[in-house]
Amino acid sequence: MSIADNVARIRAEMAAAARAAGKDPAAITLVAASKMNDAARVREAIAAGVDVCGENRVQEMLEKQAQGAYEGAPLHFIGHLQKNKVKQVVGLASLIHGVDSLALLEVIDRCAEKRGLTQDVLLEVNIGAEESKSGFAPEEIPAALSSAAAFSHIRVRGLMCIPPAGRSEEENRLFFTKMNKLFVDNSGKKYDNVSMDFLSMGMSADFACAIACGSNMVRVGSAIFGPRPYQKQET
Ligand SMILES: *Cc1c(COP(=O)(O)O)cnc(C)c1O
Repeated sequence: MSIADNVARIRAEMAAAARAAGKDPAAITLVAASKMNDAARVREAIAAGVDVCGENRVQEMLEKQAQGAYEGAPLHFIGHLQKNKVKQVVGLASLIHGVDSLALLEVIDRCAEKRGLTQDVLLEVNIGAEESKSGFAPEEIPAALSSAAAFSHIRVRGLMCIPPAGRSEEENRLFFTKMNKLFVDNSGKKYDNVSMDFLSMGMSADFACAIACGSNMVRVGSAIFGPRPYQKQET
């Protein structure tokens, strides 16, 4: 299967899931999670019609950016962002998905202020309460959204999560449902510098389920590009 075939198939599955949930398929953003795929393959995905490119590693993103990989599509940073790499990402990525602490929010705000821009971000929720994962606990989200008022060069555009790996479909659905409730509950309130537009959840194995549960932004990697090298080794 070519990248174009994969994108066409995923788009069809996304559209079916959106319609079943009573939503306009055009309202769901497809982010191509392109880690470990080179610039030529990223360009192929853009030509095939993905909405956005998403990268996990700052160094890899800068290298591929220098090769013109992202021309024609917006770029999102979807990985874990370290504070000492914020400078390299602010202004380059139009949306930073995984903001997992107020301290990181503050560093991004200061950097955006220096550059004279406003940086869009999503808050990451540790929806499975995993010790190994960073992110806000669901009950911390209202306070985190209130804090955004202090950061005038940030706009919080919504929430993202990566549910625990290897759980049953049913458990996964519960995590997505819980995320959607958190998103909807907090969308009803007015916070300064917050506009709850995006709920980023769903990957190759579960994007249709995520859309059924309310996601409007899916991050799909291996279903578009094929297995990554380390995934090949695993099997
Ligand atoms: C790699 C990655 C994805 C895509 O994973 P697949 O299972 O290959 O679709 C999505 N989100 C994040 C944050 C990732 O790191």
